[in-house]
Amino acid sequence: MTAETHFAPGQTLLIDADDTLWENNIYFERAIAAFISYLDHKEYSREEVREKLNEVERENVRLHGYGLTSFRRALVSCFERLSTGPITPAKHERIMSFAQSIADQEIELLEGVAETLPVLASRHRLILMTKGNQVEQADKLARSGLREYFTAVEIPREKDPDAYREVCGKYELTPHTTWMIGNSPKSDINPALASGLHAVYIHHPHTWVLEHELRDEPPPGQHLLEVENFGELGQWF
Ligand SMILES: [Mg+2]
Repeated sequence: MTAETHFAPGQTLLIDADDTLWENNIYFERAIAAFISYLDHKEYSREEVREKLNEVERENVRLHGYGLTSFRRALVSCFERLSTGPITPAKHERIMSFAQSIADQEIELLEGVAETLPVLASRHRLILMTKGNQVEQADKLARSGLREYFTAVEIPREKDPDAYREVCGKYELTPHTTWMIGNSPKSDINPALASGLHAVYIHHPHTWVLEHELRDEPPPGQHLLEVENFGELGQWF
């Protein structure tokens, strides 16, 4: 296939939000860098502290889901595990401020989104599909100004093959005209392919490490496209 290939109008495009439509993980990376500097551990290197934090985040996501509340807890637990002294109220407040800096971010749309999303919406049915905390994600969507381009919004707790099958059932989607578009091999590409959908991988240089995974080969009859930025979707759809 070449980029001149246009898929016929009337496809359903399930579109991820964080690091697909707008920046997200870079704010977490900045907050984590500030946290590690503040912790200033005497034995562990920055990389070792980060690895500890990743472990705590993996556990927290299982227990409390994705989002800022979970992230705040992870920073506090990580500090408790690694710091020699107790967390004083002042230290606790400082740790909270690293997470708060993420909540205070303006929405920054990624390259090509503002121009391309309206074009896609004029040709296809768009459904936003983002995992995470309902309130946080709905709030970001409202602030992004992009809500009008989506016919529906789905915010499952986890984006696994079951979540994709459920959405397909709910909206009576036909797998051969349905695509999942996103930056995460683990949440967007592999589970969508496993549930029979096509997928488009959009590379983002700062995808969260917990979303990294090798991309599966698409089963026969299913497409997996790769693009460098959201704007390139206009050439395909
Ligand atoms: Mg994403």
